[in-house]
Amino acid sequence: MTTDSIASLSLEDGKSIIKLLECPVCLDTMKPPIFQCQNGHSMCSSCKPGLSSCPTCRGALIDTRNLLAEQLAYNVIYPCNNTARGCYEKMSLEDLKKHEAVCPYRLYECPVAKENGCTWAGCRSDILHHTELKHDKYIYRSDLCSFKYEEFNFLQECKFACIFSSCGEIFWFRSKRDPEKRKLYEVVQYIGPAENASKYVYEHRLVSPSGDQKLTFTNVVRSDTDTLKDIYATRKCFILEYDTLEMFTQNGTTFECQIKMCRQK
Ligand SMILES: [Zn+2]
Ligand SMILES: [Zn+2]
Ligand SMILES: [Zn+2]
Ligand SMILES: [Zn+2]
Repeated sequence: MTTDSIASLSLEDGKSIIKLLECPVCLDTMKPPIFQCQNGHSMCSSCKPGLSSCPTCRGALIDTRNLLAEQLAYNVIYPCNNTARGCYEKMSLEDLKKHEAVCPYRLYECPVAKENGCTWAGCRSDILHHTELKHDKYIYRSDLCSFKYEEFNFLQECKFACIFSSCGEIFWFRSKRDPEKRKLYEVVQYIGPAENASKYVYEHRLVSPSGDQKLTFTNVVRSDTDTLKDIYATRKCFILEYDTLEMFTQNGTTFECQIKMCRQK
């Protein structure tokens, strides 16, 4: 049987294949790795650790996988894992893996988890409520967010995050200073469907203590699914060399910065 003939079979008779792939314990459609008992009955990898014998024949469980069942599984259309939270997307396992990593209905971690050791995870619609309840000092509720860095230490490596509740949306502001490279990196990321990120821009505004020097820098908002490593490496963020930053610093340790959020026309 060629791969092509399996693919056409799955289209013509998808329902019976899905029935064959039903886990006898949780009744979900099994996804690889699919395990089996000594007599060849299959079960899903989530249920197997909790079983002492085969749920179908009581035979011993073995560590051998059922490769035929796994091949069939790759030709079935599965619903997104986040159906219960409102996602109705269905696709092949291969596409599903990519989709679930960026699905707007996935579970989000607390956006300031690293700052607080918070282990919360929840829906996108609950992020603001959670942050207000637990980490209120990390929220800026304005389209114009002002930061005053007191005792800014150029030599200390520092990373932090906070939340902007701006333009009726939630954004993730992240800042990093790198004393070795002598650079400050800052980025605003949209929390939600990736395609919405580029609808917004953020503008850094810095004014020197004398008022003579001004800097305005505009960037397109990135998606929360972009990794910081990629954003910094591709320079799709605000990067300020320390030499420039020093022009905006008062007494060598204090500087103010404003970030204006707006929706692109
Ligand atoms: Zn199962
Ligand atoms: Zn069995
Ligand atoms: Zn989804
Ligand atoms: Zn939290």
